Amino acid sequence: MFGSFAPTPYDLRFELLGIPVRVHPIFWLSSGWLAWHRGRLDIVAVQVLCIFLAVLVHEMGHALVTRRFGWQPEIVLHMLGGYATSMRHSTWKDIAVSAAGPGAGFLLLLAIWLPCEMLGLLLPGSTIMHPRFNFEAMENWPEVIASGTRGNQLIRVAIGFSFFFNFIINIINLLPVLPLDGGQISREYWLWAKPRQGMQICLMLGVGTGGAVAAWALYSMSNRDTPWSIGRILGLDGLFLGVMFGYLAYLSFEELQKSRGGRW
Ligand SMILES: [Zn+2]
Repeated sequence: MFGSFAPTPYDLRFELLGIPVRVHPIFWLSSGWLAWHRGRLDIVAVQVLCIFLAVLVHEMGHALVTRRFGWQPEIVLHMLGGYATSMRHSTWKDIAVSAAGPGAGFLLLLAIWLPCEMLGLLLPGSTIMHPRFNFEAMENWPEVIASGTRGNQLIRVAIGFSFFFNFIINIINLLPVLPLDGGQISREYWLWAKPRQGMQICLMLGVGTGGAVAAWALYSMSNRDTPWSIGRILGLDGLFLGVMFGYLAYLSFEELQKSRGGRW
């Protein structure tokens, strides 16, 4: 979503299920910044790996469906995210490609949640955003005891952070704001439903949604303790979301003005 990232000699390259993947160095830097935990490089490393897994699975969703429709995609991981190259096919195929990223992300979330439930690691009343761990169940794991409490703590960090991160990136991506996945779905849908005004409706929806999230973020920053603040509901600092959605709303607004020939 931040443009294309040219190859560098420091890119990590590999293939997954026949799909070429390239990881730009900025991916590790931006993930390390997001995962930063002072004095605990082990926690930073575990969280960076969780981000890597979450973003890779999300992009694999897009890529696998793209290939299913007959195109050879490539995945690039960069600034706090990634993209899978894709071609335009048809309305419903494009919508399927866009939805497949968040879809794969929610499947990963389920694939982590279910074993935790089955192993009794989560206490009743746990939610994705606020998992409550059953420490006693974990202490009975011989291999975990062998690695001491630090190993135990890292497993909790990996599970808790994966819940949080997968949920957040896939939910946020579904909002109808270009160039997020939800924005792509909205554009395809509206162009199909109303070929003449479709693009304008999609952009107006983007301005409204992006502006609403930015306003919510501003409200949250001055009212941190109200139950409706972003911090309370999503466990996130409002600043990042506010800046991001404010910027995306502005981009949609600019496009909208262009499409109206400068009239507003
Ligand atoms: Zn996506």
